[in-house]
Amino acid sequence: GTSTTTWVYDFSEGSKEQKDLLGGKGANLAEMTNLGLPVPPGFTITTDACRFYLEHGSTPPDLADQVTEHLTALEKAMGKTLGEPSDPLLVSVRSGAAASMPGMMETVLNVGLNDESVQGLAAQSGSDRFAWDSYRRLIQMFGKTVLDIDGEHFEHALDEAKREQGTDLDLDLDAEHLHDVVDRFKAIVREHTGRDFPQDPREQMDLAINAVFDSWNSPRAVLYRRRERIPSDAGTAVNVCSMVFGNLGPDSGTGVAFTRDPGSGEQGVYGDYLQNAQGEDVVAGIRNTVPLTELERIDAGAYRELMEIMSRLESHYRDLCDIEFTVERGKLWMLQTRVGKRTAAAAFRIATQLVDEGLIDTDEAVRRVSGDQLAQLMFPRFVSGGDATQLTQGMNASPGAAVGKAVFSSETAVQWADRGEQVVLVRRETNPDDLSGMIAAEGVLTSRGGKTSHAAVVARGMGKTCVCGAEELQVDTKNRRFTAPGGVTVEEGDVISIDGSTGRVWLGEVPVEPSAVVRYFEGEIDPDSAEADDLVRSVHRVLTHADGARRLDVRTNADTPEDSARARRFGARGIGLCRTEHMFLGDRRQLVEKLILAETDEDKQAALDALAPLQEQDFLEIFEAMDGLPVTVRLLDPPLHEFLPDLTDLSVRVAVAEAQGHPDEANLRLLAAVRRLHEQNPMLGLRGVRLGLVVKGLFAMQVRAIAQAACARKRAGGDPRPEIMIPLVGAVQELEAIREESEQVLAAVFAECGVELDVLIGTMIEVPRAALTAAEIAHSAEFFSFGTNDLTQMTWGFSRDDVEAAFFHAYLDKGIFGVSPFESLDRPGVGRLVEVATEEGRSARPDLKLGVCGEHGGDPDSVHFFHEVGLDYVSCSPFRVPVARLEAGRAAL
Ligand code: PEP
Ligand code: MG
Repeated sequence: GTSTTTWVYDFSEGSKEQKDLLGGKGANLAEMTNLGLPVPPGFTITTDACRFYLEHGSTPPDLADQVTEHLTALEKAMGKTLGEPSDPLLVSVRSGAAASMPGMMETVLNVGLNDESVQGLAAQSGSDRFAWDSYRRLIQMFGKTVLDIDGEHFEHALDEAKREQGTDLDLDLDAEHLHDVVDRFKAIVREHTGRDFPQDPREQMDLAINAVFDSWNSPRAVLYRRRERIPSDAGTAVNVCSMVFGNLGPDSGTGVAFTRDPGSGEQGVYGDYLQNAQGEDVVAGIRNTVPLTELERIDAGAYRELMEIMSRLESHYRDLCDIEFTVERGKLWMLQTRVGKRTAAAAFRIATQLVDEGLIDTDEAVRRVSGDQLAQLMFPRFVSGGDATQLTQGMNASPGAAVGKAVFSSETAVQWADRGEQVVLVRRETNPDDLSGMIAAEGVLTSRGGKTSHAAVVARGMGKTCVCGAEELQVDTKNRRFTAPGGVTVEEGDVISIDGSTGRVWLGEVPVEPSAVVRYFEGEIDPDSAEADDLVRSVHRVLTHADGARRLDVRTNADTPEDSARARRFGARGIGLCRTEHMFLGDRRQLVEKLILAETDEDKQAALDALAPLQEQDFLEIFEAMDGLPVTVRLLDPPLHEFLPDLTDLSVRVAVAEAQGHPDEANLRLLAAVRRLHEQNPMLGLRGVRLGLVVKGLFAMQVRAIAQAACARKRAGGDPRPEIMIPLVGAVQELEAIREESEQVLAAVFAECGVELDVLIGTMIEVPRAALTAAEIAHSAEFFSFGTNDLTQMTWGFSRDDVEAAFFHAYLDKGIFGVSPFESLDRPGVGRLVEVATEEGRSARPDLKLGVCGEHGGDPDSVHFFHEVGLDYVSCSPFRVPVARLEAGRAAL
């Protein structure tokens, strides 16, 4: 026998589960048809047929016969024949892929009209104007979509006809005028294609089907798919559906509806209706729609039926549905439905409402919301109003709303904040020196750099609002002002508002309200109290359930007692990364400078001795905030030159001093040191464990501070759980050397204090060689923490500080990746190394603890990966902790 492929399915033959084959629209039309809802009859040509067409450049040989079979059945059901002159069946030909690609592909309506059937349509509908208007719409859509004629030609011709009638409204054109427009349109087709507009209805249909197939590869569709990471070979289905008309008079119309408010999740009647119109008129905004409730007054019967259908759809889909419908002379038709998009707040509310209504269980509720949605609910928001003027729009680097006086240096930010002022730090770009200013400021605005620039990464880490790369702004830090387009100048002290969710920047104060969800996480709102609204209660319920389900622990990246305490309130179970370099900035920088410049052992020891008590105090407070929970302290990582002045600045200062005849000895010595330490590629240079091995005593001082702080806590009745982490290890020998030194220091301190404490010593896996030799390294490490920032940098060879501004936008545009690998873990590359190191490490040391502390630890997709690979915990910045808890729960369900 011959096996034949089914390329065409009647609407009654499919179901909502068949999205891949029938596309989203086709699958849902089939589902509604089988529910017995009033769907205009039709059929769907499968995505298989599209793929065949795209591969072979022609439709499958038996497609035409299958289409004929289904068309004949459709004609029989409708009692009409496609394009028949006295009473034509008309069809729409619509695209519909498995993944929603709004507006990306083509649709042709009114297929089946020609010079003869237009008369039949006029007679049957009783309206000449309607028939000629439908015909001109067909030629226009067909000309543009199928025949590739620039749509402007048709629009100009229509405008001209209106101008001749002295109007700019379509509705002022009568049947005769529209007949004339049809003639002009036909002339355009002839002129641009060298042939007449096809009169054969079946030829129209077949050409329209192929045009929908072709539209899969239109440039805008290709670009959209790359960005959305939709597979390029999926293809689109084609829906051929009998036409119903909402533009046959006042007893007709068209509308959209939601089964719940997609903004808030509240149940009720939401939607818009437009009397005497077709769907495209609603989109085009030609006339004003009325609220859906008005339909009750206009047509009570259709309204009641629609309400019944909506509640039926919702309990069937067990979710919010959105709907397109048409009323044709009092008869309701369903044209489309799908599970509808919603805001973040509505997603949480709806998920728990559906649990309460018994439609879904709580596992499903957790699956129905996302970490990204939760993150959106955590940022303060600007509420509209106020009289601020928008200055520009930059990149939305770290969401939130910040208002404050513009300041142009870190020092000013700190000083002004200390005296109680709210400030926004404005810089061309930021560097590690700006850290104290960034902490002091409400938000950060830069004119240069992309979403992984220093400002963006650090601000996101702190949960601080940031707009970066606002290139229209001329930032003049010397004169403490910036200039916006239109010549507006903002001086230091002027109040500005920045919105990190949209990238907008205003002069003046835009009113802000804090997030209730954050107040709940902070413990300021009790979810069981009257103060908690239903959003807070939903978030509480969903997260509690996620916590019960997840296998991954969630820790935080924190290096201050305040951040540690907050992260703990947000649900962190310990610190996965305490970056000690942040403790060497500010005033203490002088001490580090002394250490670096020390020429004698005594000088060096003096510098170390000065730093030690400061370090100890830092750790003491952090251990206290995280009492009873693990605190992973990473020994110093950044290149030494970061603690010294800038080479160029210093050279200039020295040269000027010399020229003026009073050379500065101290600066000369400093300059020599800066020169000595200067590196071409500092991120690949003297940092991390290399620093610990080269600068004698540095790591030992840190380990001593950790051990003494732990002893002090212990004596005070606390339960400190320090873990020592060595960064940038590439070879086990590096780790062994530091480990030996550290163990000696620990033993000495514990003996001095008379304290027994078990301190784990482990390493970061952030150099590819460490991942590849993980089995060896595990012999000397009690835990691994994947430093996926550096691991990504070194695996791709992408400088994490430069690539964003340099070329990532081009890579994203070209679709080389859909998202930056610094934001979401590159599974096949960097992820592969994580897998290898996990397997090798565990095989060498079965109780090896495994975690991740790069930025990816708070990225939803990456959290799922870390769950799958089998890590023990993820560690992320305090504000990402709830997001990671939720995603870890979702990954486990
Ligand atoms: C990392 O490299 O992923 C990491 C956490 O360390 P840092 O970002 O401080 O280099
Ligand atoms: Mg690192």
